[in-house]
Amino acid sequence: MNNKQSLYSLTLEELQTLLVKNDFAKYAADQIYHWIYKNFKLHSDDWSNTSKKMRQWLVENYDTSIPEVVTVLESVDGTRKFLFKLSDGELVEAVTIPMPGRLTICVSSQVGCAVGCKFCRTALMGFKRNLDSSEIIGQYLSATLWLREKVDQNTLITNIVYMGQGEPLLNLANVKTSVMVFLEDKGISIGQRRITLSTSGIASQIEKLIDFPSVNLAISLHAADDITRDLLMPINKKYNMERLLDAINQIPLKANRRITYEYLLVDKVNDRMVDVENLTRILKRKLSKINLIPFNSFPGCEFKTPSKEKVVWFQEQLLNRDFVCTIRSSKGEDILAACGQLKADHCLANK
Ligand code: SAH
Ligand code: SF4
Repeated sequence: MNNKQSLYSLTLEELQTLLVKNDFAKYAADQIYHWIYKNFKLHSDDWSNTSKKMRQWLVENYDTSIPEVVTVLESVDGTRKFLFKLSDGELVEAVTIPMPGRLTICVSSQVGCAVGCKFCRTALMGFKRNLDSSEIIGQYLSATLWLREKVDQNTLITNIVYMGQGEPLLNLANVKTSVMVFLEDKGISIGQRRITLSTSGIASQIEKLIDFPSVNLAISLHAADDITRDLLMPINKKYNMERLLDAINQIPLKANRRITYEYLLVDKVNDRMVDVENLTRILKRKLSKINLIPFNSFPGCEFKTPSKEKVVWFQEQLLNRDFVCTIRSSKGEDILAACGQLKADHCLANK
């Protein structure tokens, strides 16, 4: 375990302040950001236009390691599931998903998760700890370096979704720092619209998003009434749907921005006509989009996946009621990399 603070947990502004405070040039922060986040040169020896003294000082005082790739599983559809080992030996997963014109990484925000949704494989791990911002950014860096070395030296990950293990809003400070680093113009420079936070609906934390960078927000709604939601997501007992929708309504939305409601379709649980009607009643907000996710099963789970026909039927009902409604194409199912299938198996196997 490394006790030094990670260099990757510093926003550009923090790095500038740090350098100035230690009598180094402020602009060196821009150069370092360029080397790390634009050129993916993580070794300070490569930062040829910076002073040797500054580099030495920095690596003596700051950690520059990234999560270690333990295994990479590749799906027939090109999705890759990375298992990473963190500096204290904990394991997390991230998934890269290629689509025409983009490459998305689904990052983890915690080791395990405390929310305990009944349909989620990560929930079986329980909660271990929050990830530091550098460990979230580190998943991006480590996956990029691996793909550049093994697959294509020009690989560039273009989109980030916080939909791996963990509840990002229960680790908000680290998630925010990581988002700021991803957005930084002088670094990775990913646009706000290419970053999505997904939350199970922690209303008290959603209320804190008022001054958060304006990234996309996906709410894992998964039910249209409290009884069904209680059954699927125990968090609903703490923040019921009314409280959740109130919190969401307080988020100032920029023009043409939508909140996405994720709706997991579970056979005979929430795929009925009454669910369509309830959804229509509660999601009045004009700019809402519903993304249907057919439940992905995993060993030991009590729920079943609805038939394809049922999923299409459900979508048609919502389209007929003027919702924007898509069906999430499930990727990486053969390697248990699809939504809700992440669990860092090695972690459990080793214990
Ligand atoms: N904790 C956050 C983000 C991680 S989960 C959240 O819950 O939103 C990312 C998405 O995968 C969520 O929408 C979650 O509900 C969904 N998911 C979890 N288990 C799933 C499963 N077995 N099949 C399909 N989607 C699942
Ligand atoms: Fe946690 Fe999200 Fe899984 Fe629920 S669905 S247990 S919030 S990771």
